[in-house]
Amino acid sequence: MNFISTRGGAPRASFAEVLLAGLAPDGGLYLPESWPQFSPDEIAAFKGLAWNEAAFRVLSRFTDGSFAEAELREAIAAAYAGFDARPRPQGWRQNTPPARDIVPLVEIGKGQYLLELFHGPTLAFKDIALQILGQLFARALARRGGRATVVAATSGDTGSAAIAALGGLPNIDVFVMHPKGRVSDVQRLQMTTSAHANVHNIALEGSFDDAQSIVKALFADADFARDVSLTAVNSINFARIAAQSVYYFTAAAALGVPVTFVVPTGNFGDVFAGEAAMRMGLPIQKLVIATNANDILVRALNEGVYAPGPSHATLSPSMDIQVASNFERALFEASGRDADWTAAAMADFARTRRLALPSAVLQSLRDRYSAFAFDDAATLATIAAVKSETGRILDPHTAVAAAAGRLIGPRLAEAGTGAAVILATAHPAKFPDAVAKATGAPPPVPPRLAALKTLPERMEILPANAVLIKRFISSRLTP
Ligand SMILES: *Cc1c(COP(=O)(O)O)cnc(C)c1O
Repeated sequence: MNFISTRGGAPRASFAEVLLAGLAPDGGLYLPESWPQFSPDEIAAFKGLAWNEAAFRVLSRFTDGSFAEAELREAIAAAYAGFDARPRPQGWRQNTPPARDIVPLVEIGKGQYLLELFHGPTLAFKDIALQILGQLFARALARRGGRATVVAATSGDTGSAAIAALGGLPNIDVFVMHPKGRVSDVQRLQMTTSAHANVHNIALEGSFDDAQSIVKALFADADFARDVSLTAVNSINFARIAAQSVYYFTAAAALGVPVTFVVPTGNFGDVFAGEAAMRMGLPIQKLVIATNANDILVRALNEGVYAPGPSHATLSPSMDIQVASNFERALFEASGRDADWTAAAMADFARTRRLALPSAVLQSLRDRYSAFAFDDAATLATIAAVKSETGRILDPHTAVAAAAGRLIGPRLAEAGTGAAVILATAHPAKFPDAVAKATGAPPPVPPRLAALKTLPERMEILPANAVLIKRFISSRLTP
């Protein structure tokens, strides 16, 4: 399988090249040259399948030519060995748990299901993509030779998932910068208690935006970037999209009815994985984009103009994003894969911070997506309502999607046209303050988090200064 750039100015690349590069050299995002196709029989066969086998059936279509079958299977097994949705007796071993044990599907009301994606090592859905990305990354790197330095800025979830995925892997050093004092205690501990020598935490004396501009400055210093083999594992990496498309297949096949997926959305990576599944042949009725007060995507879909508004700090911080990088992929597809138009539109947008969507592009987006925004009050009310009706506690990101799913699901069920599947992206214990505000009590702490408080923390407190950060990175690289 070969990959092309949404801006049409990059040479075709293999899966391994796309994995190691992240962004295409013309500034565009990689997509497969053509989407792999699954027949209705192949799709029905996902029902009841072992998770690892489902992941293999989807990922192998993309990795073909870059990874041998046995190598991919081994990477998948290593990636998902640390997921445990079901409490298991001590010493219990099952090499091939069914998908429902990795990403459980739970009915919470008429026509409404939760798809729980938070049973990995850091209790957020980012583990599902980053764990396999880490495994494949290490293998691709071993073949290419040399080392790589991964640098990430995080407002919380990405940093811990990257550390859990890359900690202890050979030939990789990982540096994660978080804004000092501005992540939750749980999020900080998940990062700073890693015992792996190749993990380096920086508590930056500055904001998340400062951290992000420093990462950009590091990449912009071509000599430094080359000397340390700088690379990124953020959500524009196509390997993450491919890995996330797997649970759309397993959930739709498990229900066997037309499904509307409701996706708590920030950078548009997760919901675009749904579009990827659709383009591979999976029958999905609609993809519902659910956002918090940062509603640029809702305005784009409803009004036809993509333009960032003021940035709001909300109870669902991982979705406090104005410009959603992965939206470029949806625009490219909606334009009929017109790379010239996409490149011009993105250049225009970078200059004017405003993009009026042509009516054909808008129509194509509306055929596939609808969008809703909910504020913090609605988020809290949804957490409270679901708790009192079902006993289940939602995290604030999931609650944003559930607010939409609770409106849509019953209508679908009554019309006999399927069900709404709400993607549950984080464990409530990661956001105890929001849960306490909604329900009057913090959620119970799962064993994975309880243990963190007893471990020693390692982090370096540094000023928000790119020169000092570069010096720190060079001094800590594994020789
Ligand atoms: C990252 C994240 C999201 C948003 O996902 P995107 O792929 O960026 O749209 C939603 N919920 C949680 C808990 C997250 O960590």
